Amino acid sequence: MKRRQFIAGCGCCGLLGALPTSLLAETALLAPTRFQRPDPNTDEGGLWAMLDREEAKLRRSLFLLRDKPINEYVTRIACRLVGDHCPDLRVYIVRSPFFNASMAPNGMMQVWTGLLLRMANEAQLAAVLGHEIGHYLARHSLDRLRDAKSRSAFGQFLGIALGAAGAGGAAPLAQLAVTASMFAYGREHEREADRIGLELMARAGYEPMEASRVWEQLLAEIKSEKDWSGDAGERSILFASHPPAQERQQELVARAATLGATNAETGEAAYNAMLAPHRWGLLEDELKRRKSGETLALLQRMLERAPQDSELRFFMGEAYRIRGAEGDIQLALEAYQTASGQAGAPPELYRSMGTIYRQTGNQQAAVDAFRRYVAAKPGAEDVEMILNYIKEGV
Ligand SMILES: [Zn+2]
Repeated sequence: MKRRQFIAGCGCCGLLGALPTSLLAETALLAPTRFQRPDPNTDEGGLWAMLDREEAKLRRSLFLLRDKPINEYVTRIACRLVGDHCPDLRVYIVRSPFFNASMAPNGMMQVWTGLLLRMANEAQLAAVLGHEIGHYLARHSLDRLRDAKSRSAFGQFLGIALGAAGAGGAAPLAQLAVTASMFAYGREHEREADRIGLELMARAGYEPMEASRVWEQLLAEIKSEKDWSGDAGERSILFASHPPAQERQQELVARAATLGATNAETGEAAYNAMLAPHRWGLLEDELKRRKSGETLALLQRMLERAPQDSELRFFMGEAYRIRGAEGDIQLALEAYQTASGQAGAPPELYRSMGTIYRQTGNQQAAVDAFRRYVAAKPGAEDVEMILNYIKEGV
């Protein structure tokens, strides 16, 4: 497939004048004229029809995060990146603690909350969305559809999609995962999507160096898990289908340097404000993954930016408590104690302390901690149970 110049027909390239011409020639991207709905009698038309059915199910899914401000925020960033194609794009935020995003050729974009929780700022989210938009603009799905080697993967997808038809709002998360990952592109496509994403980011005024940090963070996280094998591909489909994480990260650093947009926007404050009302719930989801090593690395990184954040400190305690390896209980108690002295400390930390003291036979300390919890949160759902513990002397 012949790639057309992406930047050529672009009417919105504020930063274009600053880009070196050699880079423009090298990126060889394509013209962003909006895509027309393909003829239903073609292979591409068939693919769109299938994706439209998937999207109808996704729209009814119980896993969608329907909160308006967060949906508008993510859509705004995607539109800022995709420019003229904005009317063709529909963002769906899926509540799932895994790192995932995708954009299908019919314009359906999925962003999973595990990804949102992991981005340090708006520029990092723009990097991931820009990459997915890169696949869309370069129409990689078409190449894949017409590649004989991937036919069986599409057939499998179709089977799953049809098999689950009628599941409606209860469509399992596994099915959404299939929709999100059906376009497991080859490495050349991934590299091209990275290049387009970076250009889009810089053009929209974001700091392009943040793209490499996304990968740096993810790698650091998965290496923190105790069963880390040294092969990132084993741990995540994302690493399996993409170029080796380290190579990719280095390439992104080198390219970002040529774009030279230092001191561009990272949008950290705006990002944190958007995430704030959802963060507690997303951190609870994160704990349910039972990957405490990864969760602790994530929280550590978040705490470096906000050391006085009592909510993050509490969840740090929770991750240690759940892992329960040697020394973890002590570390959990220390985290709860630190959190209790910080502003806005969540009362739940006293419940967790009480639970640990109860399990370790420290009765008086357990009763004291449970009393503090009940006093701070008298309307909590589990108050009756906690009062019973106190009455029975734990
Ligand atoms: Zn990709």
